[in-house]
Amino acid sequence: MKCPQCRTPMQSRRENYRWDASGLSNVVLIDVEVRRCPACGEHTVVIPRIEELHRTLAMAVISRPGRLAPQEIRFLRKWLGWSGQDFARHFGVTPTTVSRWESLEDPSPMGGTAERLLRLAVAHGQPAEQYPVSRLAEIDDSQDASPRLIAFKSSRGGWEQAAA
Ligand SMILES: [Zn+2]
Repeated sequence: MKCPQCRTPMQSRRENYRWDASGLSNVVLIDVEVRRCPACGEHTVVIPRIEELHRTLAMAVISRPGRLAPQEIRFLRKWLGWSGQDFARHFGVTPTTVSRWESLEDPSPMGGTAERLLRLAVAHGQPAEQYPVSRLAEIDDSQDASPRLIAFKSSRGGWEQAAA
């Protein structure tokens, strides 16, 4: 394979590679193929099954017992496929609050409850059919907390919610 910059043949070898393309600065990939140009220093890294890597990385981030760092919060949001606006709507906060959560220069810590909710949303993985995470955005905090009548009926498929 030739260097995309200067067309010199690149040299391939396996190495431990600091992978910051994830937006996280603390990720090392062990023994991956890296192609380096001996002339100009250009390099490319070969990452197999990158979606699986992203998922594994997301699970590692939410499993860490310490508070989430701003760059981790941003990584998890992007992994969920949410824009900053989506994140704000799902969590019932303003977009400004989201950017402060993710800000390296002027961070404002995410509350413990919101952090747990983000971890759960990620652990949920691909949005579940029964309760897509997007439902969170439909919650109306201004409505009162008194429970309404909910009805269920049994059918061949099992219990289903029905009109009351
Ligand atoms: Zn080159």
